[in-house]
Amino acid sequence: MNQITLDASLTAWRDHARALAAAHVRPHAVTWVDLGLAAATPLFGGRAAGAAETTPAPPKPARAPHVPRAFLPLAKALALHRDPVKWDLLYRLLFRLTHGEKTLLDDAADRDVALAAKMRHDLKRDIHKMHAFVRFNAVPETKTPDNPSGERYVAFFEPDHLITVGIDGAEGQGGWFARRFPQMHFSILTPDGCVHWNTRELSHTPGVTEAPATDDDLETLWVDYYRAIFNPARVNPAAMTREMPRRYWKHLPEAEVIPELLKSAPAVVDAMATDTYSAAPYVPPPLLGDVSLDQLAEAAQACEGCPLHGPATQTVFGQGPPDADVVLVGEQPGDKEDLAGEPFVGPAGQKLNEALEAAGIDRGRVYVTNAVKHFKFEPRGKFRLHKSPTAREVSACMPWLEAELDLIKPRAIVALGATAGKALFGSSFRITQQRGEPQSTRFAPNALATYHPSAILRTAQRDPDAGAQIEAYLKEDLASIAKFL
Ligand code: URA
Repeated sequence: MNQITLDASLTAWRDHARALAAAHVRPHAVTWVDLGLAAATPLFGGRAAGAAETTPAPPKPARAPHVPRAFLPLAKALALHRDPVKWDLLYRLLFRLTHGEKTLLDDAADRDVALAAKMRHDLKRDIHKMHAFVRFNAVPETKTPDNPSGERYVAFFEPDHLITVGIDGAEGQGGWFARRFPQMHFSILTPDGCVHWNTRELSHTPGVTEAPATDDDLETLWVDYYRAIFNPARVNPAAMTREMPRRYWKHLPEAEVIPELLKSAPAVVDAMATDTYSAAPYVPPPLLGDVSLDQLAEAAQACEGCPLHGPATQTVFGQGPPDADVVLVGEQPGDKEDLAGEPFVGPAGQKLNEALEAAGIDRGRVYVTNAVKHFKFEPRGKFRLHKSPTAREVSACMPWLEAELDLIKPRAIVALGATAGKALFGSSFRITQQRGEPQSTRFAPNALATYHPSAILRTAQRDPDAGAQIEAYLKEDLASIAKFL
């Protein structure tokens, strides 16, 4: 039996896992022992007294095992899960991927893959909670040239997972808050560790177990703000407790006014017509300076604006240069895209690449995205069958597409297929009648819709000539926008 002792380090896990897999050591012959963050050296500048020794790094294997691209982001995500079975699970996945099961990650019904998806989902939820429920209180500190206001904003938070400070080799959420509040001196204190931002860099200190004294004025301000944004139309006390578990309430000044707001909600609701699905609350407001595409993509990972986020592995955001002249908009990610986290990497992506090449367009110069950012499917045995999104789901997801297009400001937009066409040009849009025609949209001076690449695949199955005709239209329409690049 091989026992590997780590101190919460993805880098250490990777070094050992690589060597073990290269030596064909089977997963059941390895025990992973995690000493936890408290023992870790790199974060807090010194080994904890009495901490057990970690297993020294093995020599690099001559040939590192080759793993699919989707594995590294998965490992980086799962490394932040609190359950130490993550190391065992990751090694099982790595071993199987490198020992004859290259496409394992595509099999959503596999027990290991399903467990990884569940753990990833736990993390997504925890990160969302952290973004939503961290509350800063102003605490005076010594004025310095660096911090002339002498004010530091401090929050105490208890995450379920290791998401605040991160672990060696996998980043925590401190960076997210720093990008969100670049000018604010802040500290987020958690039992796992504390993260501090001084407008230039992040630093870390060991965890604390007590919430600090709070600032009354700031709490009053926050409660007023909460009253203002409280939406009685969305009130569902059961869902609210699920969303905002009671254990977070003690750190939330607004929790005091919730009962009163809930009581008055039904009367207010009667007067309001509502559409309860929307990504809008998750889209970062451009209040604190410009939001970048990377920040949008990161925020989209926590989107729960419609029910599609539940079964999907992750949000698949757009990809491409932030200053692209041309944006291509598809329908929604498919099975492969859902697993890889990237748009158009499966069979439809293959067709799209061929058509772009035939049209003389370098895919690296265009921004590729979808109208809906989560994969909608129906489980069927080992498979996940694509299901078209409803108009309501498309409309719920529209704030992301709008935010992408508002930032990129492309010269031309191509809608691939009817769903994207309707999202961009309105519900009366008909692909069979309006393909290739110039359309108008507020997002770009030039726009058109063409067939979706998967229509080639679908049609060719029953009628190869009709499939070839659709492919020719797609290439012709893409060629017509090549001039905007
Ligand atoms: N189909 C789409 O519309 N988008 C993708 O990303 C993949 C397939």
